[in-house]
Amino acid sequence: MAAVTDGPWPLPAAAGQSPAAPAPSSAADLTSGEELRRFGEAVASCTRCALAQGRTQVVFGSGDPNADLMFAGEAPGFHEDKQGVPFVGAAGKLLDQLLAGIGLTRGDVYVCNVLKCRPPGNRDPLPDEIEACEGHLWRQIELIRPRVVATLGNFATKLLSGKPTGITRVHGQEQETTLGGRRVLLYPIYHPAAALYTPRMLEVLQSDFRRIPELLGREIAPPQPPPPLLAPVAAEPAAQLGLF
Ligand code: URA
Repeated sequence: MAAVTDGPWPLPAAAGQSPAAPAPSSAADLTSGEELRRFGEAVASCTRCALAQGRTQVVFGSGDPNADLMFAGEAPGFHEDKQGVPFVGAAGKLLDQLLAGIGLTRGDVYVCNVLKCRPPGNRDPLPDEIEACEGHLWRQIELIRPRVVATLGNFATKLLSGKPTGITRVHGQEQETTLGGRRVLLYPIYHPAAALYTPRMLEVLQSDFRRIPELLGREIAPPQPPPPLLAPVAAEPAAQLGLF
């Protein structure tokens, strides 16, 4: 399998269909699910940044490759690094509970992070690590084609909104935008880890979560074409006022 050291994609050839892979329900599923699986295999050997040296493994993402709802967190922690699956620690347990509260399971959604490798000591991601890794997230969005992308906390929110405004100001405010070449609803919410020990934040996160079913049912308008440039109007010849 080719190592991912740089874009752009074409993807490397498949190493064969996993026997555990669920049966595709349509040709479109086969294309995106299989492509995502191959992409994950390629990213598994990524060396785009120094985090590659300290990781146990790449934590690519998990869930339904055709999910309508995708979550982007920050970076794997200790447990995620060991198990190779995002959100399996305490914050992940809270995420599971929040999903259950709106009738969903982890198998119904796709969950991943801005960084695919654990920063040492769970420190914040550095700008050059985000820059090196963000192409993986963009490609995941392109392949999964979600309707709603929920960003968990500051790092994912700032990256995917392209704006510096922090989560405290924008949480719960959905925004139509284009991600991975498609119109989606970007929905910033608090990171579950931040809500673990702060009851007021947990209430806000629960309340923001309760809006997700409505957002999933929402029609997303295609981008509005820019208004046509107005052609200059030819000056009317000045009317000669006849006085008599
Ligand atoms: N926090 C994250 O942002 N991602 C994980 O996968 C786990 C904890």
